Amino acid sequence: MKNIIAIANQKGGVGKTTSVINLASSLHLSGKKILVVDLDPQANATTGSGIEKTELKVSIYDVLTKQSKITDVIIKSDSCGFDILPANRDLAGAEIELVNSSHREYRLKETLTEVSPNYDMVLIDCPPSLSLLTLNGLSAAHKLIVPIQCEYYALEGLTDLLNTVNRLKNGINPELELLGLIRTMFDSRNNLAIQVSEELSKHFNGKVFKTAIPRNVRLAEAPSHGIAAVILDESAAGSVAYIALAQEICKIFNDGGN
Ligand code: ATP
Ligand code: MG
Repeated sequence: MKNIIAIANQKGGVGKTTSVINLASSLHLSGKKILVVDLDPQANATTGSGIEKTELKVSIYDVLTKQSKITDVIIKSDSCGFDILPANRDLAGAEIELVNSSHREYRLKETLTEVSPNYDMVLIDCPPSLSLLTLNGLSAAHKLIVPIQCEYYALEGLTDLLNTVNRLKNGINPELELLGLIRTMFDSRNNLAIQVSEELSKHFNGKVFKTAIPRNVRLAEAPSHGIAAVILDESAAGSVAYIALAQEICKIFNDGGN
C-alpha cells in the first residue's frame, strides 16, 4: 500500500504543520486510521496535537538513532484522535549523529515500513530545510504534498524542492510522486495571490488541489489549545477548507487504486 505522504517545502511558515494536523484530523473524523510523523525539531506537530514535548521520555530521535522501537514511541493524540510519532529538540542532534552512519537517508523508511500497514495513511511533517531529516522524510514517502503560500517568492523555492525530488527519483526513491500542491493562507481578493495561483496551474498542470485554504484566524489559534482547528471549530472557514481538501485527497487515492 502506497500510503506514506510527506508534506514538505523548505520554505518556512508556509502551512506545512497546519496542513498535517488538520488533514490528519479530518481524515480521522472520516473514519481513517492515521499516523502523523513529526520530523521537525521545532516539534510543532507534536505540541499542536496536544502533546507536551518536554515530558516525552522517548521520541522520534530515539527511533532514528535505533535506541527505541517505533512501536514503543508512537502515542495517541487524545485531542486530535490520530496516532503520532512525536518529536522534541533532541531531533536536532540526530542530523549530526547520523552523518557518518550507513543508510542514513533510509532510517525513517526502514522503521516506518514496520507500522505503515496498520494505517490508512501516514503523514510526515518535514522541517523547513532540505536537510538529512527532510531527505529521510522524502525517501520514506510514496507521495509528496507541497503547501505553498501564493506570494512573490513562492515559485523560487519550489524549483529547488522539485529539483531535489527529481534527484531523489533518480536515486534513493524512484517511486516518489508529487500528489499535489496546496495553496495556503490564500486570499482570493489579492491580485498577486491570483497571479501566482495561475502560474502554479500553468506549471503544474492538474497537480494543484482545487481546494485552497483561506487565511483564517481559527487555524492560527488552534495550536495554542493543542487541538486541530477542524475539531475545535469545524464550521470555521479554514476547517471547512481542510475537510474538503481531505476529501479531495481521498478521492485521488481511491481513483489511483491506492
Ligand atoms: P515551519 O516551516 O516553521 O515548520 P510551517 O510551514 O509548518 O512552518 P505552519 O506552522 O503550519 O507552517 O504555519 C505558520 C504560521 O502560520 C503559524 O503560526 C500558523 O498558525 C499560521 N497559519 C498557517 N496556515 C494558516 C492559515 N490558513 N490562516 C491563518 N494562519 C495560518
Ligand atoms: Mg512546521
